[in-house]
Amino acid sequence: MKRLLALVLALTGCIATWAQEQAIRPLDVPMSFSGTYGELRHDHFHSGVDWRVGGKAGDDIHAIKSGYVSRVSVSPWGYGNGLYITHPDGTTSVYGHMLRFFDALARRVEAEQYAQESFSVNLTFGPDEFPVRQGDVVGQVGNTGSSAGPHLHMEIRDTEKDLTLNYISRGVYKPLDRTAPQFHRVAFYALDTLPVAESWRIHNLTNPAAVRDTLPLPRRSYVAIDATDRQEGTGAKLAVEEYRVSLDDTLLFAFKVGDVAFDKGRYIKSLIEYRESRLGGRDLVKSRVDPNNLLADRIECHNGGLIILDDDAVHTLRLDAIDEHGNRASLRYKVRRADGFQAPAPDTTLHSTPWLWYMQNMVSDGAMTYYLPAGALADWLLSDASILC
Ligand SMILES: [Zn+2]
Repeated sequence: MKRLLALVLALTGCIATWAQEQAIRPLDVPMSFSGTYGELRHDHFHSGVDWRVGGKAGDDIHAIKSGYVSRVSVSPWGYGNGLYITHPDGTTSVYGHMLRFFDALARRVEAEQYAQESFSVNLTFGPDEFPVRQGDVVGQVGNTGSSAGPHLHMEIRDTEKDLTLNYISRGVYKPLDRTAPQFHRVAFYALDTLPVAESWRIHNLTNPAAVRDTLPLPRRSYVAIDATDRQEGTGAKLAVEEYRVSLDDTLLFAFKVGDVAFDKGRYIKSLIEYRESRLGGRDLVKSRVDPNNLLADRIECHNGGLIILDDDAVHTLRLDAIDEHGNRASLRYKVRRADGFQAPAPDTTLHSTPWLWYMQNMVSDGAMTYYLPAGALADWLLSDASILC
């Protein structure tokens, strides 16, 4: 009986392995990336991985698993020629910026473009129209759409939830990565609370690892971090997967990108120090947490992510940047409370009435009235009751 049970278990194990195909690489060239999942891109997180092809278009793209072509999108923008293959395991692989699709599909797309009299088309297909087997050549690498050079943008999505999955941190592919992230800039901001939460930059550390002196901070402040990751075999600046800020032994803030749903991607504006980004700078992840930041399910925080110094002692502030393979870079600063930080004069060009994120906001110039629905803004106000954590 035991032997029979073992046999049954072994057989079901075989069937499960057969059904759950392991993804193969989409390209024949050695695996190397110019962009990774979760990179901060001003108004969205990079939702896939950019596979390098050595600067030239035309390399074959292979279906990473069996399935069927469920969608094709053609556009001068975005993914350019984009191909979606739905797999039986509940995932969909997406291939962007393609030079061309395989012949039968290319003919169908062209016919639809003529029929619709439009270059841009968005077509969906049933399981029987264009089935593909793992390894089939589904087209070639290109530079179409919003792309700055030939590469393959590839995503793996949860088909049902329309979530893009961080497949490198899941270990679907295993690039060599023993290199820790790098800090490029660390900035500190003082925070005043009257009449509304007003913050201003007080330290801008462009060589953040070189600071030895104790940093003076006001009673309430927060920190923002510009860091990127490195990997062997590529000069690209890649995504940091997790940011952590601790004061002495207390974790004040941690953000881990996780899997990002498309409807939450815009909340990156609430994660970064948005003014720095708008002024043309890079995206710095800030420790202060806005009350309506809908990325809160991937944020851990204490005191709203604020550095609060209630005594005159020297404290240790620690910053960590961790990549998807667990390589970690750390910075430690000695900080001490100091008084006399003066807020700059208020910007009179700004709207004089604060807009409350939890209310509908309205502005009217007589001829037209604009409404902003409640919850459309992320920023906080002075009430401590609005602090998420
Ligand atoms: Zn990309």
